[in-house]
Amino acid sequence: MYCASGPVDGAYLDLATELGTAIGTGGHTLVSGGGNISMMGAVAEATRAAGGRTVGIIPRALMEREVADLGADELVVTETMRERKRQMDDRADGFITLPGGIGTLEELFETWTAGYLGMHDKPVVMLDPGGFYAPMLDWLQSLTGQGFVRQAALDRLTVVDSVGMAIEVATAR
Ligand code: AMP
Repeated sequence: MYCASGPVDGAYLDLATELGTAIGTGGHTLVSGGGNISMMGAVAEATRAAGGRTVGIIPRALMEREVADLGADELVVTETMRERKRQMDDRADGFITLPGGIGTLEELFETWTAGYLGMHDKPVVMLDPGGFYAPMLDWLQSLTGQGFVRQAALDRLTVVDSVGMAIEVATAR
């Protein structure tokens, strides 16, 4: 799960909480960046509150800044950001991206492009009930007409507007 680590509007925290609750009640394990702030923290807390297991993977240098999630069932501290991403990617069975900033986008595009290129076959899901990503998706869609982006690449990402759909698609494999 990838999402914002910054101070965001309460509606986004509610979405994060709703997702965490669904992960927990569904008996799934959350793999996250291991921070306990913002949406990241809300998903992790809600997952545990609903009886789910949480695995947090955080670079040592970010433990203070992103408030390491010491309540995680498993907290993995890495020496680098690359190692964090590698472990998150390896341990996840599917990827869900919520609204976020450049860190979230970086992770979304990495898992999305790797999926498109056939480097993994895990579901790549964008949970976006409010159209947060609509301008970006519209722009990417417009690039297909210019030959920069293939429709097949866009199709590798599943965009959903409900938590239930996000869980269903992300755990389908
Ligand atoms: P943001 O969307 O910018 O709030 O960041 C969300 C999460 O992405 C935070 O936990 C950041 O540490 C993480 N992040 C930032 N940059 C990167 C990167 N290059 N690779 C992977 N994760 C990152």
